[in-house]
Amino acid sequence: MANDTRAIKATCLCTAAAHEITLPASAFPFKAIFCHCSSDRHSTGSLCLGIAVLPPEYKAPGAWLEKLQSTEFSKRITHYFCPTCGTMMLARLGGGDGGARWDVCTGALEQIDGVVEVDCHEYIADTVDGGFSDFLQRVDGKQVGRWSGEPGQGEQLPLYWQSSSRPTIQPSPSDKLHAYCRCKGVEFWISRPSKRSAMGKAAWPDVLHPFDSPAPKPKDAVWWLRAGGTKYLAGCCSCDSCRLATGQEWIEWAFVPAVDITLDEAGQVPFSREFGMLKHYRSSEVATRHFCGGCGATVFWDGDERPQLLDIAVGLLDAPEGARAESWLEWRTARLSYREDALPRAKGVTEGVEEGLRGYGKRYQREPQDAAL
Ligand SMILES: [Zn+2]
Ligand SMILES: [Zn+2]
Ligand SMILES: [Zn+2]
Repeated sequence: MANDTRAIKATCLCTAAAHEITLPASAFPFKAIFCHCSSDRHSTGSLCLGIAVLPPEYKAPGAWLEKLQSTEFSKRITHYFCPTCGTMMLARLGGGDGGARWDVCTGALEQIDGVVEVDCHEYIADTVDGGFSDFLQRVDGKQVGRWSGEPGQGEQLPLYWQSSSRPTIQPSPSDKLHAYCRCKGVEFWISRPSKRSAMGKAAWPDVLHPFDSPAPKPKDAVWWLRAGGTKYLAGCCSCDSCRLATGQEWIEWAFVPAVDITLDEAGQVPFSREFGMLKHYRSSEVATRHFCGGCGATVFWDGDERPQLLDIAVGLLDAPEGARAESWLEWRTARLSYREDALPRAKGVTEGVEEGLRGYGKRYQREPQDAAL
């Protein structure tokens, strides 16, 4: 029995870097950690990096690593992503004489229920406002640990913690929100919504009106502007395509008109789809995904039907009030987009996020959002 092994498949979105991880059955489940540090947010485009810690005897084989592009995250840590589609798959910690620890991104795994056990959030202090940690409070009824920094060191932070130095923002039309990936191969700036932000039409997104809903679609509306036209809509998507594009269980998108994006801080250089180290991957018949060719960060989802409106990866944003950029974004809390994709492989965290989003919505957003559609 001691020789029983178990295999779990990992894949990127384009499948070129698909690989099967085989380990003794006794090594399962792996411990999963969600890291909220600023560098991980900017290197994934997601509000946190979810990884499963592989056992010390595991070493990622050369045949897998050859298919991936490596990028130095820090002196001690290397990230590996697919150069064709951008999916982050692996992280290596340490190395040299002491041996390395390998982490696999949970979103790249075919299944996580029964494969990983969620342990904790780490580096929450970096978020200033608590970030995604308030959106995932419990998994299978069990509280997720909430470490300020490194797990097991320092303090744990209470639910809805916010930094005492968190600034109160007085929005001004001249504000610019800086968005950038970790390697700064991709950066741009977002303006506050204005009259021109309301121009154009766009089909209702699944996060507001589920595609498979039998209910009639609401009439066309400027659904991407919220809070009386002062904020952009943001929401979380757990569809298989977003999951595999990032290697993360979900990605948070902000819906921002192209006219409100500039490639310089002064707001003079208009948005275009070719700048910096941006790379493109055609992820369906109707959409292109953009990621950084230098560090692999997810940047945009770009639908053919609405070229005037981009989905921006929220992890790239650098708002002084915190990772959730609440002076810029209103969060959709009543739906985790494409939950039906996520439930068969990750019921625990999916239901956990839905519960966390509802709790956050109740606490911070007074109006029931469906009534505002
Ligand atoms: Zn790929
Ligand atoms: Zn999606
Ligand atoms: Zn980059």
